[in-house]
Amino acid sequence: MNRLNQLISALADRPFDHIQALKGSYDFPGFNFRVIRVQHSAGAHPASIASVTVSRQDSVIPEVFLQAEAGRLAVADFLIRRFRQGIDMFALQNRGKEGSGSFDTIELSQKMLERDSVLIDQAAIELRFMISWPAKGQGGGIFDAEQARIMINQELPAIIDATFFYQRYDEQTRAQLEQFVDVLTVRTKISRFMGEHRLVAFIADGARLPRNSGIDDRPAESEAVIAFQSPDSLQVKIPLSDGRCLTGMGVREGITCITGGGYHGKSTLMQAILAGVYAHVPGDGREFVVTREDAFFIRAEEGRSVRNVDISLFIGDLPNGLKTDHFSSDNASGSTSQAAAIVEAVESGSRLLLFDEDTCATNFLVRDALIRQVLDASLEPIRPLYSTVRSLWNERRVSMIFVAGGLGCFLQKADTCLLMAHYHCQDITASVRDRLGEIANENETIKDFSSARRLAADNFDPAYENKRLKKTIAKRIKPLRSALRQLEYGMDLVNLEAVVQIAEAPQVLALGYCLLALRNKISQSADQPETIQFWIDRLYSDIAEQGLQVLAPDYPGTLSLPRKYELAAAVNRIRSLRIV
Ligand code: ADP
Ligand code: MG
Repeated sequence: MNRLNQLISALADRPFDHIQALKGSYDFPGFNFRVIRVQHSAGAHPASIASVTVSRQDSVIPEVFLQAEAGRLAVADFLIRRFRQGIDMFALQNRGKEGSGSFDTIELSQKMLERDSVLIDQAAIELRFMISWPAKGQGGGIFDAEQARIMINQELPAIIDATFFYQRYDEQTRAQLEQFVDVLTVRTKISRFMGEHRLVAFIADGARLPRNSGIDDRPAESEAVIAFQSPDSLQVKIPLSDGRCLTGMGVREGITCITGGGYHGKSTLMQAILAGVYAHVPGDGREFVVTREDAFFIRAEEGRSVRNVDISLFIGDLPNGLKTDHFSSDNASGSTSQAAAIVEAVESGSRLLLFDEDTCATNFLVRDALIRQVLDASLEPIRPLYSTVRSLWNERRVSMIFVAGGLGCFLQKADTCLLMAHYHCQDITASVRDRLGEIANENETIKDFSSARRLAADNFDPAYENKRLKKTIAKRIKPLRSALRQLEYGMDLVNLEAVVQIAEAPQVLALGYCLLALRNKISQSADQPETIQFWIDRLYSDIAEQGLQVLAPDYPGTLSLPRKYELAAAVNRIRSLRIV
């Protein structure tokens, strides 16, 4: 502590880039403070990375919370949020030039995710955060030692005090921590129950699904929100170990169709289902909405690139004699992009696909009787999804959930038909069967499309060459700050806007480092081309064993774990992707 203060004094009024000297580890009463990476200029983004470490003995977070994996994840998530609150409460922030003189954490969404910002081991808890050292003078060129002293000796200890020490939590904070642990523990139980009962989704009674707005994932606060209530016929009861019992709707494997009038809550239910692959923080409203971990939302994505995907099940030969069993395009159409997305999702291991009519290419879903009179079958290469859904389920065990308000044909194919009416969910399966007849199975078996594409040894080059400035950077991995789901990687701009299950920016950054890790793995065994799935599984087993640190990011503490399905989606959207 004194050593750091001496350093700060010695740097007073010196040029800002001299602060590289601050890198190091410093002992304070009750915690260790480490400066891991130091920024070169005031207002750099991200700023410097620092960490604090508190012994578990001192923090006294109850051992029971930390015994299981789920509990550790919940505690880690709770601590980074608490630290964030501490910053907002105790730090002056933005006190210097260029917004310098601030603390920050990574961006936190409504999800509880595995992150490298809080690491808990047997002995200690380490929390990593950003610190933007204070600058003053013209253009922020001078280090402001006086403000730095306030940050380090007053603000930081106050934030740490409020974050790490269970004994100092008030009743409400203790209860909150317990809720975080409870949410993740109960979710584990729900997932197990779903596996045993072949359910693909569970929506708890009382869940509050609507969001604040289309660009704000926090819960809608309006009193008009109607809480979810399961139809009796689909209600399941999940016993919890402490005698409690959770009830809610169990969506079964197979084909499910959600219908209803416009604005009656269909897409909101679907959004909750696709978000249900993640845990949500207490108070979110979707704490006990759980979706099988392999669910993948499929949508049309005109203009994306596609590399060597066998979409011939859905799309026959194209104009110009283009073959579709190895389909590539730099500018896919709505229908071909959607066909590719299905094949890629199944290739990456998903057996639960989600669709919303709102974001599908109509001609990919159906071809109606009138158009058949006008358009000769020989002119239409598309075999609409409608005509293969039963076979995909019966032969491949691919479950699907559709939102369809205008296309009755999906009701003809569905094992379960749900109606959303005035935000109430009803099971209308029996009446649909009465009116539309038995489920319309397809007669032909579907052809094999399990493409298992192998990656060429030279892929995912992270180098960036700026031709105009004649400058080459060895590694460019940079999410765009202006768009949540776009990543600059090497010479590529990887557009993941359509990969809607990416929940927060730190996942996008992690995807970038995953691509780099894949590159290193692949090039080490260049003579043995393996499938995309093979390499992704390898990487995820490394992460499971050693944590996100295996990705060796330049800024430790800034990642959160994406699912492997999103990594596959990123791989598939790299325009320079090379398949052997
Ligand atoms: P649909 O897809 O059926 O056209 P949406 O799901 O988009 O309808 O919902 C329409 C509007 O109703 C949205 O603004 C949404 O936030 C709101 N909404 C959805 N579910 C509920 C609910 N349970 N209670 C109150 N408002 C809701
Ligand atoms: Mg809708």
